[in-house]
Amino acid sequence: MTTLFDTMTGSVTQLINPGQEAFSLYVCGPTVQDRPHLGHGRVMATYDLLRRHLRNKGLAVTLVMNVTDIDDKILTKASQESTSYQAVAQRYEAIWWETMDLLGIERPDATPHATEWVPNMIAKIQAMLDSDAAYVIDDGVYLRVSRVPHYGLLTKQDFDQLQPGNRVEVNPLKESPFDFVLWKRAESTEPGFDAPWGYGRPGWHTECVTMSTEILGSSFDLHGGGMDLIFPHHENELAQAQVLGVPFARHWAHVGFVEMGGEKMSKSLGNTLDLTDAVTRFGGRAIRLAYLRAYYRSPLEMSDATLNDARSSLNRIDNFLDRGDAGDLDDEAISAFISALDNDLDTPTAFSLLFDQVRAGNTLFDRQQVGAATAKIATVRAMLEWIGLAPSQEALMVPAEISQAVEERDRAKRDRDYATADALRAVIEAAGFVILDTKDGTQLRKSRA
Ligand SMILES: [Zn+2]
Repeated sequence: MTTLFDTMTGSVTQLINPGQEAFSLYVCGPTVQDRPHLGHGRVMATYDLLRRHLRNKGLAVTLVMNVTDIDDKILTKASQESTSYQAVAQRYEAIWWETMDLLGIERPDATPHATEWVPNMIAKIQAMLDSDAAYVIDDGVYLRVSRVPHYGLLTKQDFDQLQPGNRVEVNPLKESPFDFVLWKRAESTEPGFDAPWGYGRPGWHTECVTMSTEILGSSFDLHGGGMDLIFPHHENELAQAQVLGVPFARHWAHVGFVEMGGEKMSKSLGNTLDLTDAVTRFGGRAIRLAYLRAYYRSPLEMSDATLNDARSSLNRIDNFLDRGDAGDLDDEAISAFISALDNDLDTPTAFSLLFDQVRAGNTLFDRQQVGAATAKIATVRAMLEWIGLAPSQEALMVPAEISQAVEERDRAKRDRDYATADALRAVIEAAGFVILDTKDGTQLRKSRA
């Protein structure tokens, strides 16, 4: 039985129904206005793990992740740089995917872009206006939260008792401070779209409820994101689903914060650690390991010390795998590993089982019990493959100057200029790479610390 903590019920619940063969998953993706930070990587790595786990168990998993490619922050950046919002969005989206590739995160099955779904959003907003669940005021269209049968289901708050924060800027024309914008009016000189109630742009909460249900259907298995999205984003997606009368997500899951120095990581605190930089410094697999070995709902401290430790753990695994060939799998150990993941993605237990195998395997090698030791190698390898952490699954980030040095070295070798070839080898190795001269040409591997 596969279980996961459901934010809606507040408990660990059964994720898959008996006989279920397919699994549909919607994860809130990036607003492409800046480079990804370590918090984004954790959310993506967690859902990548869940997706692989369910697929390895035999389910046909469909993952949809939106890309918000129009938003006030994107527009601000575009005007600061005197460029188009499309250019800003495309630049940061490219960096997003490159970085996620290096973390071994598989691309989603569909990546709907907000700007491509505006007509569908307009239709949804119109339906909410038609049923009197929404209203138009000077600066846009708002959802009338008083018409939502159960507002606050995810947040577990009784909004009747709540006073809106003083810091929240409230349009005095709104009927209730909790009413939220579905469509924001914009100046005709700004980027936007025509709608029956005026030129403007869709609200973010409307994007996700539209794209998830249009692609996955009015009911799908799991809606996910980071814990920072529970309120207002997911609560407000759910509010629209309620007034539209769609069943929406069967389960909700949320990934914990990444912290630095004990504070949750966010742009406003200025303590973000650039994920792309971290991947360059520590390698995608080490960061993936750092993410995955922690329980996904707990806060995760990410520092140089954490990441150095993850890298040395990874080296320990890889050095063990290099000691011999893979023998026969230990099925019992594999099934214990899978059971741990089935239990609300209990990766701390799964990793301790993995390291037990490494430790036992090293002891067996030291005692020359090679047959038994190679079984441990096969088992560790299978565990790593299950979670997308096998050495073969590493995408290598090679800086441009090193790729160029590799090409120059190949040329020098062809020219039998061995002094130059050796000098270039030294440059490449000093940058932390091992050169493998294979029959398919020169290949690089990351050297181990
Ligand atoms: Zn969303």
